Amino acid sequence: MYECYQEKICDGKETFPISWIILENTLYLAIWILAAFLLWPIWEIGRIPVLTVIWVLSVLIIQVLLKKHNCSGCYYFDKLCHLGWGKISSLLFKQDSGDPEIGKKLTLFYIVPPPAISILSLTCGILNHYSWSYWIILIFYVGLNADVFPVRKKGCGICAMKNVCPGSAVKK
Ligand code: SF4
Repeated sequence: MYECYQEKICDGKETFPISWIILENTLYLAIWILAAFLLWPIWEIGRIPVLTVIWVLSVLIIQVLLKKHNCSGCYYFDKLCHLGWGKISSLLFKQDSGDPEIGKKLTLFYIVPPPAISILSLTCGILNHYSWSYWIILIFYVGLNADVFPVRKKGCGICAMKNVCPGSAVKK
């Protein structure tokens, strides 16, 4: 469990509005769905888009694991954090039932796939002469990933975990 929770030295918003939670979740969902479309034509066996299937399964598995290893030890466990995931975690897992070290490693999910998928899509798009609609999806994908930074900074600035969270954008 994080120190700030143990010692009750949390300086931050107790709960976030539903509109904020919906907006931020929509942003992440849109990014993950666009990634699934970008990966679709890159590797197909028969009519099965192999990379898209792997991506969707990875998102589902990693997101559930993050709820256990990150959110179950978070100050916002059973509360409405900026993503509402503290509540989801409390429905699935016991408090503090995860391993924060595994949680830290799992957060690579937010760092590695965006540039990797962008570069892979760009390369395959050029080599295979994908249609203009593919390029529009790629532009949206890169644009939405860029939007995550200001949104995160705003959320982290008023989050009770801002000084201890490994992913904090405003850590001192
Ligand atoms: S603030 Fe982050 S780690 Fe804490 S419950 Fe919300 S999503 Fe999980």
